[in-house]
Amino acid sequence: MKNVNKIYINGEFVMPHGTEIFDLINPANNIKIGEVILADETDAKKAIEAAKTAFISFSKSTANERIDYLTRLKTAVEKRKQDFIETMIEEYGGTYQFVTMSNGHTGAWFDSMIEVLKKFEFERTINSSTVRLQPVGVVAIITPWNASNSSIASKVATAIAAGCTVVIKPSEMSSLQTQVLMEAFHDAGLPKGVINFVTGLGNVVGAELTTHPDIAKISFTGSTAVGKSIAKNASETMKRLTLELGGKSPNIILDDADLDQVIPVAVYGAYMNSGQACIAPTRLLVPQEKLDEVNAIAKSVAEKIIVGLPQNESTNVGPMVSIKQFEKVQHYIKTGIEEGATLLAGGLGKPERLEAGNFVKATVFTNVRNDMKIAQEEIFGPVLSIIPYKIEEDAIRIANDTPYGLAAYISSADNERAARVAEKIDAGRVCINGFRHDPMVPFGGFKQSGMGREYGEYGLEPYLEIKAILK
Ligand code: NAD
Repeated sequence: MKNVNKIYINGEFVMPHGTEIFDLINPANNIKIGEVILADETDAKKAIEAAKTAFISFSKSTANERIDYLTRLKTAVEKRKQDFIETMIEEYGGTYQFVTMSNGHTGAWFDSMIEVLKKFEFERTINSSTVRLQPVGVVAIITPWNASNSSIASKVATAIAAGCTVVIKPSEMSSLQTQVLMEAFHDAGLPKGVINFVTGLGNVVGAELTTHPDIAKISFTGSTAVGKSIAKNASETMKRLTLELGGKSPNIILDDADLDQVIPVAVYGAYMNSGQACIAPTRLLVPQEKLDEVNAIAKSVAEKIIVGLPQNESTNVGPMVSIKQFEKVQHYIKTGIEEGATLLAGGLGKPERLEAGNFVKATVFTNVRNDMKIAQEEIFGPVLSIIPYKIEEDAIRIANDTPYGLAAYISSADNERAARVAEKIDAGRVCINGFRHDPMVPFGGFKQSGMGREYGEYGLEPYLEIKAILK
């Protein structure tokens, strides 16, 4: 059994005051792998107190000192890469392919903030006045289960670069992997109280963090519904907010794109992290006259997707994180059928020989209308919707016609044409001809996909207060 029975406060792993137990279940077979002792409000308060005390001196550290801390964090985190991969496969069913790739980026969060710090001006002059950018205070970091360690590493790197101290609350479903991350952070040897970690439930520890007056900022990644409730809580004490929320990202295939090349990429992309990814391109917008050709390619690609045990290197799609998530995805597949979309591949039920786990068939719907629920709502499973459009202007209108605006993708033989379309898309990130990732380039959502930006210089600024001194 792999238990998480400690929290991390003021530089020490300690027993929590909370006593409630959460079972960790391997989603590939629904067998219990361990227990988490859930922290409670008392633990959250202690962690906040430690972070508040540490802030007094840490906020005065120099950029060079913080570069040293970031370097140490990076080294410590990279040493535990194999442990992250193993725990992520076991704890949330992340596929070997996905978790190997995502853990390959973890060190880059620290490197990118080091690069930012080398050039960032914390003190500026306007006319004869001084403008100071100073750390905002104690930051609550609240994260989901699907991108847990990467999300935490990116937020911690930014907070440290700014001179802030943090209290981290991961999803209860990713307590194990976060514990390994915290062991790595501990090994980096930062001053006591700068980084604190509490396990726990959203409506207990999360609620305490989002209402406590000593939390100056919340950096949250998770669902839009929870993001909205956090924003309400935070407004009571005017906490600063960075919210990275849900998505329903369009993938526009322009009529000059090479379908044999771009459709397989589109299908695999929709199934990234077994479809449990906020930026997954789940709406594939294709020219009406190419629909038959697209359908044929998408069907053959989806039927070759390997749904299987996450530890197998060849598996493309692993289990859903929980039985609840499996049922939610089944509900959406049923809804798509009832709404009149055409099922091209996959469908209801589990694949053969995988009945013990939360496995969903790699599913593709075509002839989807953008007003259907399967096109409007975040499913968070391996379900792709193919939506035909008549002319380019329609594609842009359909792409923008959801409450979300996190990511978008455009494929075309002509990069400049794709870039012109990109200008009309309401999304925080538009990738042209493929999936791209750059930790220096801002990331975040338009509309209900969030508030504020993460990564690089744009990500650092929301961790800073701006003080103008007029002389
Ligand atoms: P979730 O919103 O259910 O939970 C996220 C975190 O919030 C968890 O730690 C949870 O315990 C906590 N929480 C829940 N209720 C709370 C409350 N009342 N107060 C404070 N905290 C509370 O999300 P999830 O199911 O863990 O993750 C999936 C969601 O995350 C999807 O919607 C996905 O799109 C989104 N996501 C977004 C991004 C992004 O960068 N935009 C990245 C990854 C995931």
